[in-house]
Amino acid sequence: MDESKTKYILDEKDMPTAWYNIQADLPEPLPPLLHPVTKEPTILPPPLFVEELNKQEFSKERWIDIPEEVQSIYRQWRPTTLFRAHRLEKALDTPAKIYYKFEDSSPAGSHKPNTAVAQAYYNKKAGVKRIATETGAGQWGSALAMACMYFGLELKVYMVRISYQQKPYRRNLMEIWGAKCVASPSPDTKIGQKFYAENPNHPGSLGMAISEAVEDAATHDDTRYALGSVLNHVLMHQTVIGLETKKLMEKMGIYPDIIVGCVGGGSNAGGMFLPFVKDKIQGKKKNLRLICVEPTGSPSITKGLLAYDYGDVAGMAPIAFMHTLGHNFIPAPLHAGGLRYHGMSPIISHLVKLGYLEAKAVPQLATFESGFQFARTEGYISAPETNHAIRVAIDEALKCKQEGKSKTILLAHSGHGHFDMSAYDAYLAGKLEDFEYPEAKIKEALSQLPQIPGK
Ligand SMILES: *Cc1c(COP(=O)(O)O)cnc(C)c1O
Repeated sequence: MDESKTKYILDEKDMPTAWYNIQADLPEPLPPLLHPVTKEPTILPPPLFVEELNKQEFSKERWIDIPEEVQSIYRQWRPTTLFRAHRLEKALDTPAKIYYKFEDSSPAGSHKPNTAVAQAYYNKKAGVKRIATETGAGQWGSALAMACMYFGLELKVYMVRISYQQKPYRRNLMEIWGAKCVASPSPDTKIGQKFYAENPNHPGSLGMAISEAVEDAATHDDTRYALGSVLNHVLMHQTVIGLETKKLMEKMGIYPDIIVGCVGGGSNAGGMFLPFVKDKIQGKKKNLRLICVEPTGSPSITKGLLAYDYGDVAGMAPIAFMHTLGHNFIPAPLHAGGLRYHGMSPIISHLVKLGYLEAKAVPQLATFESGFQFARTEGYISAPETNHAIRVAIDEALKCKQEGKSKTILLAHSGHGHFDMSAYDAYLAGKLEDFEYPEAKIKEALSQLPQIPGK
């Protein structure tokens, strides 16, 4: 292997033609999803999701073909580049080899279009005319706006108000691609009106915005709902990240010792991890470490409960078995808007429980220090979410230095930070705060969990 080489890119003809479904290989199946009212096992509510996505959600087939229409849009930016972080390694003076898979190069600037395009395609194919969704930092809203543009679908986005105010340019992206975007809680839905009437400047939360989008889809015949993370089919669509990386590394004759990804709902980390988790489950790579990184201000895996909880504030969404801070959790105003969700992907939670994944929480300021070091070595300015993964990759590389070990560290680089300048501005001005999750809140969360008979 040429150690001076910096970029590794698969040929278009070597792109994955099927998504990998981890459910085929889980040693224990996922706990069932429960209906919010009956508390009985359920599917994703059919008025909200088209049949094909529901099928994928519960499928046990190992490989699901990527439709040619989706592959053709993927080719606008995929395969994405795998970088060797030579300059960061040098600055850290570490014997570790750091690689990062770069999802920043999609038109929306993150990994989210990988599932947005697939979801828009299946909705279009089922005759749906309009989609309603929520967005935290605006990454999902813009990714879905782009995807709906390709397929000629209408889109309404409920954007968490604090992000709507902090990130006006994300809204512009959505509008350029033809979507309608409102601040949530909004006066446009019943659940939104309730919070909006109390406080028209309510900062909102992802759970609240989800409730608004769900209500919108449930009350319009031609409309379906789309979720940018958390769900099984979303993580499956994201496996193109890990599949490309694995194939590239095979060609390079290497295999990672440590893989790091930030987790909000778990989709970019899941997309990178799952094809590698397969090797761990099959006992081929017992020592591989996979690390989920979350903020100390919204630490669902490291401080939350592994329990059945609602996916949204209103208690209208199905109940999932996952790590949760309680569905009424209102997170600190972290700049990493994509990491502020109260819950976690059931697949990620399940794999943590089974011991295949580790989790770490890092404070906001430390993540920006690392993102800054990344920008001043590699050049790329990363999303605040991505900075969480960078922090832990750097920590692990420094550990390698102490131990004199040359490990291969792979980082899921989920997106760029070009629309997060207000966050970098706060960092540069020395005004960035750290947030700790108050332990006392866990009791409060516990008391709010849905009661499941027999559980
Ligand atoms: C949305 C987002 C995340 C967090 O979501 P996951 O589903 O956990 O991946 C992380 N990084 C970026 C750049 C995002 O846009």
